[in-house]
Amino acid sequence: MLRTSRYIKTKTQYYILRKATFVTAKPIKEGWEAVIGIEVHAQINTKTKLFSDTPTSFNEPVNSNVSIIDAAFPGVQPRLNQHAVQLALKTALALKSNIQTRSTFDRKHYFYPDLPQGYQITQQREPIARGGIIRLTELDGLDKSIDVGIHQLQLEQDTGKSIHDMRPGYTLLDLNRAGTGLMEIVTKPDLRSSFQAGLLVKKLQAILRCVGSSKANMEEGSMRCDINVSVHKMGEPFGTRCELKNLNSVRFLSMAIDAEIDRQIHILESGGIIQAETRGFDAIANKTFKLRGKESAPDYRYMPEPDLPPLYLDQYTIDQARSSLPELPDQCRNRIMEQYNMALNDANVLLNEPGSLDFFEKVSQGRNSKTTLNWTLHELFGQLAGENISFENNPISTQQLGSLIDLVTDGTITGPTGKNVLKIMVQNKSKLMPKEIVQEKGWLRIGDEDSLKTLCETLIAKNPEKANTIKQGDPKLFKWFIGQVMKDTKGMADPVALNQVLSNALGCRLEDIEKNQGTSTKKLKKSKKTK
Ligand code: ADP
Ligand code: MG
Repeated sequence: MLRTSRYIKTKTQYYILRKATFVTAKPIKEGWEAVIGIEVHAQINTKTKLFSDTPTSFNEPVNSNVSIIDAAFPGVQPRLNQHAVQLALKTALALKSNIQTRSTFDRKHYFYPDLPQGYQITQQREPIARGGIIRLTELDGLDKSIDVGIHQLQLEQDTGKSIHDMRPGYTLLDLNRAGTGLMEIVTKPDLRSSFQAGLLVKKLQAILRCVGSSKANMEEGSMRCDINVSVHKMGEPFGTRCELKNLNSVRFLSMAIDAEIDRQIHILESGGIIQAETRGFDAIANKTFKLRGKESAPDYRYMPEPDLPPLYLDQYTIDQARSSLPELPDQCRNRIMEQYNMALNDANVLLNEPGSLDFFEKVSQGRNSKTTLNWTLHELFGQLAGENISFENNPISTQQLGSLIDLVTDGTITGPTGKNVLKIMVQNKSKLMPKEIVQEKGWLRIGDEDSLKTLCETLIAKNPEKANTIKQGDPKLFKWFIGQVMKDTKGMADPVALNQVLSNALGCRLEDIEKNQGTSTKKLKKSKKTK
C-alpha cells in the first residue's frame, strides 16, 4: 500500500514512488527456486482489547490504557471480546476458510518484559478457522494467476512494547498495546518470488480493510508480517527456511526476500548449509542479519488455557456473518472498472488507498466519472502527497471536491484556477467551500472577449517582432503568447476563448495556426474537458 512519506515533495516523486511500490520481480538465479510462506499478525479493529474492556490505542500517552488484566495482576480472569470474534469470523469467511464450530485457547510461554503474563493466550491446537485461499490474478499484476493457500487463522493477544533507546541502560515498557486482539493468518508455502509475496500482502490488506477487521497498516504496526524463505535446486525438495522479521513496508519486505534468497543460494553453492533462524533486514546494506536461533514448539511449553472455555460458533452466527460481508476487493474491482469504465491501474490505486474509493464514488454521483476520477486520483492525491498527508487524513470533504469540479465544469473558473483552489484547501485544511475561496481571491474565469482582447493587444504591442513571426506563418511563438496571457491572468483566462481572441488579434485564422502547429482543435477541446 502506498503511504506518503517525508521525502516525497513533488507530484513527480509521488508517482515514481507509486510505481516503486509495485516492485517488479527480481529474477531468481537460473536453476534455483525460492519458496515463501507468510505469517501475518493483523490487529483486530475493535474498540477494546481481546480479553479486557480497556480501550485499544495507537500513539497515546504511554501506559494510559492498561487495566489489571492487561498488566496480568494475580487472580484476574480474561473475558473474550465478542466483537473481535465477529471480525475474525468475517475475515475467515472472506478468505474462504473453514470455520471451526469449536475452537480453544492455549498458553504459549515465553519470557519478555513486554508480555506481563509470561505467556501469550493464542489458539494453537484448535484455531477459529482452517484452510482458505487468496487468489492472485492477472489483474493483480501476475502473468498467470495463482492460489495461495491459507493454513489457518487464529485469535491471539498482542504484547506490549519494550523501548530500549530512551534511557541508556534501561528498558522502558509501554503496555498500551498489551492484550490487543490479533488475527494470525498463516499462508502455505505457495509463493515463489518477492513480487508474489508483495502482491499477497497487498491483497490481504485490501481484504482486511474491506471487511473492516483491521487497519492493516504495516508502517503503523497494525499489520506485521513474518516471512519464511527457503531455496532449493529446481526439482529437489524444499530447503530449510529462515524467518524474516520486523519488515514495515511492502517495499522492504520485497527487498529483504530478494536479499535472503541471494544469501541462501550463495551459502548452498559454496557447500554450506542453511541454519533455521530468525533474521532481520538492514535496508541500507541491503542484507539480512541473524537475530536469533529458531525456537521450536517445545520451547514454548504450550498448554490449554484453563481460564477460557472453548469458543462455540453455531451455524446461525456463521450464516449471519456471511450475509453481512461487504463487496470484496476482486468483485469491487470488476464492478468499478465496468461501472466507471476505469483503467486497471486506477482501480488498483483506489482499492489500495484506504478511503479513496468510497470518496471517489460519493463525489462522482451525478458527475462525470472520468472528470471526477481525474480530480481525485491526480489532483487531490498529488496535493496530499505534496503536503505529506495520507488519504485517510484527507482534509477535503466530498462536498468540497464535488463543488470544485462543478465550478470548473460549468466554466465559473478555469482548470488551472481549480487546481490553485484545491491547493489552498489542502494546505490550509480549509473548511471553506471552493466558491468562497474563488470570491475571496477574485479568481473568476475571464471569458469575455473584450477583456481578453485588451490583454492580447497590449502583449502584441509590447512584442512586435515575436508577433510578426506568427503573422508571417510561423506559429511557433503562439504558445508563448498564450502562456504570457495565462501568466498575466494567473491562469484565469478561458483557454478556448483566448486561442480565438489571440489569433484574431494577430490577424490570423486559428485553424491555420493549429494546422501548422500540428495541434488540432480536438486536442484543445480535450484539454479543456479534463481540466
Ligand atoms: P513457526 O511456528 O515455525 O513460525 P508456522 O507453522 O507458524 O511455523 O509458520 C510456518 C510458515 O512457514 C508458514 O507460512 C509456511 O508457509 C512457511 N513454510 C513452511 N515450510 C517452508 C519452506 N520450506 N520454505 C519457506 N516457507 C515455509
Ligand atoms: Mg509462527
